[in-house]
Amino acid sequence: MTSPTPPFSDLAAPGVRELKPYVPGKPLAELERELGISHSIKLASNENPLGASATVAEAITRACGELARYPDGSAFQLREALAEKHDIDPSRITLGNGSNDVLDMVARVFLYPGAESLISQYAFAVYPISSQAVGSEPVFVPAKAYGHDLDAMLGNITSRTRVIWIANPNNPTGTWLSEDALYAFLGKVPSEIIVVLDEAYVEYVQEPDYPDGSQWLDAFPNLIVTRTFSKAYGLASLRIGYGLSGSTIADLLNRVRQPFNVNSLAQTAALAALEDQAFIRRSVALNDNGMQQYVSGLEALGLGYIPSVGNFICIDLARDAAPVHQALLQRGCITRPVDNYGLPNHLRVSIGLEEENKRLLETLKKVI
Ligand SMILES: *Cc1c(COP(=O)(O)O)cnc(C)c1O
Repeated sequence: MTSPTPPFSDLAAPGVRELKPYVPGKPLAELERELGISHSIKLASNENPLGASATVAEAITRACGELARYPDGSAFQLREALAEKHDIDPSRITLGNGSNDVLDMVARVFLYPGAESLISQYAFAVYPISSQAVGSEPVFVPAKAYGHDLDAMLGNITSRTRVIWIANPNNPTGTWLSEDALYAFLGKVPSEIIVVLDEAYVEYVQEPDYPDGSQWLDAFPNLIVTRTFSKAYGLASLRIGYGLSGSTIADLLNRVRQPFNVNSLAQTAALAALEDQAFIRRSVALNDNGMQQYVSGLEALGLGYIPSVGNFICIDLARDAAPVHQALLQRGCITRPVDNYGLPNHLRVSIGLEEENKRLLETLKKVI
């Protein structure tokens, strides 16, 4: 006789019970199989359309001889390289299995039931997931022109606030905060509240008054800046990102870090990728041209969009985006719905190769 199945959902930790899982973009091959299509273009996950630097594949191939070995849990070489890049002590770097892993560590270290974190409306979906997973309440602050309203965020600080999450630029909106605005904000946040500044798209941003948050780590000891190799560096599949902070915060983050969270190939790849800054310049130039292509293409179509400094753009269809998303899919153009962000009329499109952008715009013209 089997005993009755226990109510596992009721047994889960309270935060987990309420959790809505992150819905990632599907891999190209799976979508093509499902839809019975081929030759589709994926502009759904803000990946680098150029792939990764050629030097990465060479480095990984060489590293394949050591697959049976555990990775260097402290990622010594990569940490040294990043320390040099950012001109800080290696003890202030926390490596993650993607920068999402670092965001998760922040939540596990600083959030718990009864502690609150502040998240802007339309901000990156991982912040509420990581916060809720540890039983902490995410507090959503209404956006201003689709971006973070820093004054409103300050106004929502209470004695329970432990973490403030800021994406600069933000995904999915592409909105960004200027140096003056962000610096003034950081100066007003009580120093016992952790501010996470997520700079996943920093390499792409060209605006002269866009700040490099890593320069502010000494001025604001409560600041954690996160970076990733998933976007401009083109290493999304390998999962590697990092946090920069003071050494005490880094020590706390490293206490909850899985000892071998960053695999050897990712470490090797990241080291090689850092060396090839010419690849980053090519990627940024391609992105600039592609963004121009979208801006003029969308204006020609009479469609609105949220001005973006990232490698993606949110198109305002001024009506339910779901049928447009489906129609694009049927024609082999994979884009990202953002209704889960409370933006049912928008569609997020990653900037691709020139031909891909052209095809997307032409297909969009047909389906609207
Ligand atoms: C893509 C993205 C990341 C990066 O995630 P990884 O785990 O490093 O792949 C982080 N933050 C934002 C806002 C992003 O859009």
